[in-house]
Amino acid sequence: MSDQTCNHCGARMRAMDTQQAGHNENEAYYCPACNKRFKVYAAFTPTVTLLSPRTDGKTDQYQNSEAD
Ligand SMILES: [Zn+2]
Repeated sequence: MSDQTCNHCGARMRAMDTQQAGHNENEAYYCPACNKRFKVYAAFTPTVTLLSPRTDGKTDQYQNSEAD
């Protein structure tokens, strides 16, 4: 489990990642406020909880590139 601040919109979120030896791989999760994609090494796709709203004053959605 880790708390982090989205580097696109400034929202704070908590990702509940499950570690399982031998089953971990890169899993994607998304900022609840702007949809920016993050990666974590975990066994399952993390559940994300929004802790505090975005701070950039905008309502745009982050455009994730398909490549990564
Ligand atoms: Zn965000």
